[in-house]
Amino acid sequence: MELNPEASSNGSGESQHVKMLVIGSGPAGLSAALYGARAELEPVVLTGMTLGGQVAITHIVENYPGFPEGLGGPELGDLFKQQAERFGAQVVFDTATEVDFSERPFKVKTYGNQYLADTVIIATGATPKHLNIPGEEEYVGKGVSYCGTCDGFFFKDKEVVVVGGGDSAMEEGTFLTRYANKVTVVHRRDELRAGAILEKRAMENPKMEFVWDTQVNTIAGEDDVDYLELENRKTGEKSRFDTDGIFIFIGHKPNTEMFDGKLDMEEGYITVNKYMETSTPGVFAAGEVADPHFRQVITSSGMGAAAAIQATRWLEDQQD
Ligand code: NAP
Repeated sequence: MELNPEASSNGSGESQHVKMLVIGSGPAGLSAALYGARAELEPVVLTGMTLGGQVAITHIVENYPGFPEGLGGPELGDLFKQQAERFGAQVVFDTATEVDFSERPFKVKTYGNQYLADTVIIATGATPKHLNIPGEEEYVGKGVSYCGTCDGFFFKDKEVVVVGGGDSAMEEGTFLTRYANKVTVVHRRDELRAGAILEKRAMENPKMEFVWDTQVNTIAGEDDVDYLELENRKTGEKSRFDTDGIFIFIGHKPNTEMFDGKLDMEEGYITVNKYMETSTPGVFAAGEVADPHFRQVITSSGMGAAAAIQATRWLEDQQD
């Protein structure tokens, strides 16, 4: 089968033909690009809105092997990029907007270009979930945040609330104590979901307090966030809680809207087999977009590498 039809590459509205197109530039996407580049497939990586994905907005990564002292998330993202580029990957600051996987080569439109791709690796990751309560949308950037690393600085010597009881809430809450005088974790149950190390660190932090069995019903204030309306889920008791800000870490939603009806999915995540193959031969998925379970930098990287190895083999098989 012919997989490399003549195609133009001029960025002027005509399609650019590539052997491997990687959608997303987090650990999964950039690891796929590294492996694809080393297989001489000259992958093009579409960064999406954030180069490096979620790791790029993580203050410090302590559990990626090879860095015993930990390293900054942005730094790790940049190292991934440099390593992929060293072998010929091209990282393009652009975002995929539409895909057509109905025939090969696959078509992917972006804000700035159109690609014809022999293989596609989807690594679009996930975005933070919202509480969907009154005031949440209204006060984004005025006291409501989903990223401690990005916004913690604005809460120097202030008091903030963190919502959630998982690893993200504990890690980011602990980080926020660098700036804030007090961080109050409001969790809907009476035990945390977070792993032991992060839990212990948060519990022992003198600037952190915990409010259990409680949900936030409303976010309110004048110009910025001033207070929250809380409700105890066991007693039904309602109370007002004054705060300067609220950081919400209640999990993530996979970024799969673009693939709705085009690939098999389960609970919003792209379904892949152990070879990272989606329901469309030649289209692979890796990282949090296809992984509701592990969601670590190392597991996403591993999935990205596996997807690229398999994509390389799949391309070879098409030429037999
Ligand atoms: P998560 O583990 O899914 O935890 C979400 C937390 O938010 C849970 O405590 C949950 O409560 C709570 N929650 C969910 N929906 C809620 C709602 N509508 N209202 C109030 N609370 C709500 O998410 P995550 O903390 O973002 O972690 C995601 C994954 O990344 C995990 O696999 C985690 O291990 C990993 N991660 C690892 C690290 C690290 O290793 N350093 C750091 C960050 C994240 P319940 O407990 O009651 O369900």
